[in-house]
Amino acid sequence: MTEILILADIEGSSGCWSYAASAFKTGQWARACLEMTRDVDAVARALCDRGAGRVVIQDFHRTGYNLLPELIDRRAVVRSGYRVGPVPGMGDPGDSRLVMMLGMHAASGTPGFLAHTLTSRLEAVLVEGRHVAEAELFAAALAPYGLRPVFFSGCPLACRQAAAALPGIATFAIDKEQGPVRFDASAWRRQLAGAAADALDLPQAAVYHLAGPVRAEIVFRRGAPEARRVAARWKLDCRGSSVFLEASHMADLYRRLVQVCYLTPVAKALAPLAIRLANLKGRLGLGWVRRRLRGWGQLSYRS
Ligand SMILES: [Zn+2]
Repeated sequence: MTEILILADIEGSSGCWSYAASAFKTGQWARACLEMTRDVDAVARALCDRGAGRVVIQDFHRTGYNLLPELIDRRAVVRSGYRVGPVPGMGDPGDSRLVMMLGMHAASGTPGFLAHTLTSRLEAVLVEGRHVAEAELFAAALAPYGLRPVFFSGCPLACRQAAAALPGIATFAIDKEQGPVRFDASAWRRQLAGAAADALDLPQAAVYHLAGPVRAEIVFRRGAPEARRVAARWKLDCRGSSVFLEASHMADLYRRLVQVCYLTPVAKALAPLAIRLANLKGRLGLGWVRRRLRGWGQLSYRS
């Protein structure tokens, strides 16, 4: 039996149609959390029905508390919030052999739906002139643990970027051009779940090859002042609104990017405490989502 790690994001899920729906504590976000939960549940159910072993779902958007675990197939394990290591944010991938990425988006600096790499503060992350998407960074971060990236879902451009960076991965797109009104979420979700289950037998998807070293250019949206601040903080080269990072390979680049985007050297030393506080904020946010949904009559149970 194959154990599977699912990384679940919100931008490319079926209930997120605007930036507000990916933000924190907005009405659109509360609704998007419910739809994202239904997408992830459909996939987890299909994988378990198809004979997958343990399915672990890592909630991987913003606070890490978007999914409503009580609405997800009991055979799967939902991990909310973030962990310090060994894989930044994800913790220990355990015995998982395959990774699937749901609800994803395209890379910063490309025209996909709500495109960004780690944070919208980054205008672009470039390696050898190529935009780097999260799919590649996550696959690289999991490569030392032998996880094969087999399935990816997001907007059409995000799918093309994932397929280019991770040859052999199966993709399933969500087209957000037409808007939500004519979008049939349940039909799309059924197809998504079927495509994910089919990817269980995908021999051509390989563990990401960690070639190195890599030199990355990180362009800051707010321009030179922010680039200078970050460069001084982490002792990096800086030119205009760009900071340059030398990493031994892509997994190392992911680790360094997480530091540069989310931490200061002081916060890095206090990371376990900082993550505990961030996770508390996430839990409170999810409590707010439940109250909102209950108020609209969309959740009938008490938890
Ligand atoms: Zn996200």
